[in-house]
Amino acid sequence: MHKIGFGYDIHRLEAGRKLVLGGVDIPFRAGLAGHSDGDALAHAVIDALLGALGEGDIGSRFPDTDPLFKGARSVGLLGDVVGLLRERGAEIVNVDSVIVAEEPKMGPHIPAMKAVLCPVLGISATNLGIKAKTNEGLGPVGEKRAIACYAVALIRLPD
Ligand code: MG
Repeated sequence: MHKIGFGYDIHRLEAGRKLVLGGVDIPFRAGLAGHSDGDALAHAVIDALLGALGEGDIGSRFPDTDPLFKGARSVGLLGDVVGLLRERGAEIVNVDSVIVAEEPKMGPHIPAMKAVLCPVLGISATNLGIKAKTNEGLGPVGEKRAIACYAVALIRLPD
């Protein structure tokens, strides 16, 4: 049986924080606020996987009130979720995602993101889509106050 899941996340940009997306440190004047490292791409992928598995969401699994997850590398949390999938006998077929950011330019960092995420997800680079676009100056993302990410995941489960 195959199941799909969908995930979305948005984080505020905050001066003086490190910008981490897809597990990659990206040089920029601001980073994403959050209890963890604020990696909105990893969070969207986590929610897509949990959604496909029927296992709630990132907030219920990794509560932002838990000091254990303060400053956590979100790619580590993603690895935990992939472990949960494996426990259920599931495997990931593919993941596709979109980063919506006015700046900085994401394109040059996508190969590094794939290099980090593919081994964690256990899929090849052709089965991980990461696309980047701006929000055409509209809304909080367009005004450079936030970065948003969307992801879908297809998983295969035992019948
Ligand atoms: Mg988040």
